[in-house]
Amino acid sequence: MPELPEVETIRSRLAPGLTGRKLERVEILDPRLTRPEPPELVAAALEGERVADVRRRGKYLVVVFESGRHLLVHLRMTGNVLHPAPEGRKDDPHVRAVVRLDDTSDVVYRDVRRFGTWDLLEPGELEGYFAARRLGVEPLGRAFTAASLSRSLAGRKAPVKAALLDQRAAAGIGNIYADEALWYARIHPLTPAGQLDDEQVAALRAGVRKALQLGIRRQGATLRDYRSSDGSEGRMQHEFRVYGRADEPCERCGTPIAKTRVAGRGTWYCPACQPSELGSVA
Ligand SMILES: [Zn+2]
Repeated sequence: MPELPEVETIRSRLAPGLTGRKLERVEILDPRLTRPEPPELVAAALEGERVADVRRRGKYLVVVFESGRHLLVHLRMTGNVLHPAPEGRKDDPHVRAVVRLDDTSDVVYRDVRRFGTWDLLEPGELEGYFAARRLGVEPLGRAFTAASLSRSLAGRKAPVKAALLDQRAAAGIGNIYADEALWYARIHPLTPAGQLDDEQVAALRAGVRKALQLGIRRQGATLRDYRSSDGSEGRMQHEFRVYGRADEPCERCGTPIAKTRVAGRGTWYCPACQPSELGSVA
């Protein structure tokens, strides 16, 4: 599932081709994409809009229109926005929407599992939309400090990994980058979030930023489905310190990487570098 670095990679490749362009024709082929709004209504509302910018908030792609409206695209498991449109898309059963731009190029939205969503917001609705979803600060922005992280984890009994995944402490972290961040920070993923001391919180903030920045530099991680908007693969999968590396040696200490489950998700960590504070749990 695309996390912050994957969405940021898609955004940065899409922005030059979309910014300044008008949406001439919009076809939404899958009603799940816009529900509960009828797809033909959303398509009609989008036609004629001109793109002012393509931004990102957490894992959302945010298409900013000159009218002040925003289209929020959440890719969920397998969504992707492709531009220019790939060859052979006419026969591709996973194409869910096609947008013709005023330079006659097409933007294709493709989604195998169909969990992705498009939400068209009227001017002024953006902040309320994110606030209602309790979306935390941007982890690569200035507002993500050790103090802000400490405040959002304080008193929480949930495992720190679960706290990273729920988007409230910081937006955009998913299963891969949570595990990588915790390894950098030398924190066991099951440590209760509210139990981290100041030093650990500072290390976690640094680990989150390090993992995400590396992911962006490597254009994201391609495991099965993720591709950038031009169809190219990311290279972050070659940089994983723990994610998916069960039984391989930790590069810091040589101990075999262990696998467990946290919040229902496969979770990898080094039992020596990331000792359990609960004693018997690990
Ligand atoms: Zn280790």
